[in-house]
Amino acid sequence: MELLKEKHYEFIISESYKSEDKFSFWWSEYLRVSGCFWGLSALYLLDIGKDSEYITKEKVVEFVKSCYDKKAGGFGGFQGHDAHILYSTSALQLLALFDALDSIEEYKPDILSWLSSLQRSDGSIRGSVTDGDVDNRFSMCMMICLSILGQLSIDKPSNLDEKGSDHCHDTSSVPSKSFLYTTSPIIDCSKAAEFIMSCYNETDGGFGARPGAESHGGQMYCCIGSLCALRRLGQYFNPYLDHSSKLKGSSHVSCSSCSHRLTKTYLWFSERQLPCGGLNGRPEKKEDVCYSWWLISGYSILRKMESIWTLESDTESTQEDDKEKDDKEKEKEEPTPEQQQLDDGGYIDYLSLQRFILSCQDIESGGIADRPEDMPDLILRKMESIWTLESDTESTQEDDKEKDDKEKEKEEPTPEQQQLDDGGYIDYLSLQRFILSCQDIESGGIADRPEDMPDLYHLFFGVAGLALIGDPRVKRISPIYALPQEIVDRLMLVSEL
Ligand SMILES: [Zn+2]
Repeated sequence: MELLKEKHYEFIISESYKSEDKFSFWWSEYLRVSGCFWGLSALYLLDIGKDSEYITKEKVVEFVKSCYDKKAGGFGGFQGHDAHILYSTSALQLLALFDALDSIEEYKPDILSWLSSLQRSDGSIRGSVTDGDVDNRFSMCMMICLSILGQLSIDKPSNLDEKGSDHCHDTSSVPSKSFLYTTSPIIDCSKAAEFIMSCYNETDGGFGARPGAESHGGQMYCCIGSLCALRRLGQYFNPYLDHSSKLKGSSHVSCSSCSHRLTKTYLWFSERQLPCGGLNGRPEKKEDVCYSWWLISGYSILRKMESIWTLESDTESTQEDDKEKDDKEKEKEEPTPEQQQLDDGGYIDYLSLQRFILSCQDIESGGIADRPEDMPDLILRKMESIWTLESDTESTQEDDKEKDDKEKEKEEPTPEQQQLDDGGYIDYLSLQRFILSCQDIESGGIADRPEDMPDLYHLFFGVAGLALIGDPRVKRISPIYALPQEIVDRLMLVSEL
């Protein structure tokens, strides 16, 4: 299905500059900064409107600065409004998008001291100094603000037991990367992570807004994204890391509980996909295009981290068990000219990674397995996702078999669709189809579901969802910072990924 880029451009411009006569323009005043971020980010991801007379760096900077609440030290949603962390996040994201962070250099000390005042003693984050609400959305906003302002850095935690004397394993066997946590002079990162984890529901594998609250799709991004920015996702979800008890003061996390969590959480994610391909935020709720962002961001972070942990653990055990064998192999296997052309891996040895990947090839049947000698599993993985989908769609298929057959004939995947990332437990192809079906073909824009009224919020999160699943017509987006990956790379933001 076509991605209506030009229509979306027209929609964004009409919503932003020519809509003073619309009621929606005035009722949405309180979140104008966020509206600007959604619209302009969507344009960036869609790679259109660069030469538009309506969009200039000067106009954006002028508007964002006009929303600064000097008294408090943060940004409001509009001129004269009180500072709130939701709008401060959008304001900083907008400035990052336009490479204009230096324009608020004079405000920075006050912004930082305001942000610092928002953390409670239990580690949770308030939306504003007068806000009594507890919600992990504000934790995620804090991570984004601190990252953009350069206030998160990678450091060894002060509570790391260097000797490892009272623990079950030797510290030297722990990959050093696992203990390079994030610290900040502005907030207590350990407490922030502990609070987020206290909102995890062991029963169903999801996260709630506060301890004991129902698991919710929006919280999956906020909690998993925050833990990843804090570089503490591995402490709670890495099934191969049986070393978390080495951290004094942190709750003991064993391999089995991490493994249990990971499985439960994946299950919670996969249960969110409905027969139409769209995702809902909670059980028994309708599909909504914005969960293509709220869920797939957290889901893709976890899957990427899992592949990193698996690789780390495989390398570790091979090194311990087969050290002698490895040494001999290394002698034999002098790098070829092709191998010498590999990029510099920095903290990761790309040469041995390449060797490992190639050793997982099945020389008889072809394909690549999780580790050498195992079954290559691309087909199995694909079948698994199809079975999941089939069980969800069983009733629909029975009722509407004819209709489905006709639709399948019509909707053969295009070359663009076939390039999508492998969704694993979630069927990315049908999710892509759902997002595109929420486009308004007349006015442009994307709605929460087909036939509904489009708005900037769902347009941005729909496009961001396409970016996450790898639609080649859209630029890549960071699943942590909700910024184009190019911007995140330029700012060199830290995270566990
Ligand atoms: Zn929505």
